Amino acid sequence: MQLTENLARMQQQIADACRRAGRVETEVALMAVSKMHPAESLRGAYNAGMRLFGESRVQEWQQKSLQLGHLPGARVHLIGPLQSNKTNKAIDLFDAVDSLDSLKIAARLDAAAELAARKLPVLIEIKLSHEESKHGIAPADLPIFLEAMHAMENLVPSGLMTVPPWSEDAEAARPYFRELRRLRDASLAACPTLTGLSMGMSNDFTVAIEEGSTCVRIGTALFGRRQTKGPELAGPRSL
Ligand SMILES: *Cc1c(COP(=O)(O)O)cnc(C)c1O
Repeated sequence: MQLTENLARMQQQIADACRRAGRVETEVALMAVSKMHPAESLRGAYNAGMRLFGESRVQEWQQKSLQLGHLPGARVHLIGPLQSNKTNKAIDLFDAVDSLDSLKIAARLDAAAELAARKLPVLIEIKLSHEESKHGIAPADLPIFLEAMHAMENLVPSGLMTVPPWSEDAEAARPYFRELRRLRDASLAACPTLTGLSMGMSNDFTVAIEEGSTCVRIGTALFGRRQTKGPELAGPRSL
């Protein structure tokens, strides 16, 4: 059981990073990023005790959720870009959107959540690097973004999310994590619910925990390498 071993190793590394940082483990959620892995991998993780999952594409998760049926207690968050014509579907399919990066999408999600009589937790994705491939809003736009979200009563801004530039060296991500935390801290007075920090992936999650992450998003280190077969599953690079 490779997955069980991976999960045990991951939990140990999270515990160690928390100890180094003087934090308690319960502050850090482990999200299993099951994108581009078959439904059966997700079921395996569920059976091993995982309850929080991240998927990048509306369509892909729709297909898998049909195969999986109801998994009691499981929560699935959207962590990839959302197109405005998929906001209604997103409300039906996801427990939260962790990759909000436009006010237009926010307004549509708000309207869809109202129709569904739900409060949707959202994380605002921040683009801290200049890479073209990355999504998110500019840090300088966050205050205006939060201000505009005041009127969207069906969305709960619950934190910030970022994807730093990929590097072999986990330490290269540290300044980005630190910056996300600084932004979050600076925004708390205006938006007290904005407590979450979704940061850290397979190669840099221990650094992210040291810098205050409340949710690490782990794909490869849990499930192994992603399959890149089929046009709709193969994204630009691995993100
Ligand atoms: C794919 C993905 C991850 C997981 O990446 P790994 O390096 O495989 O752990 C995390 N966050 C986002 C936004 C992703 O798209």
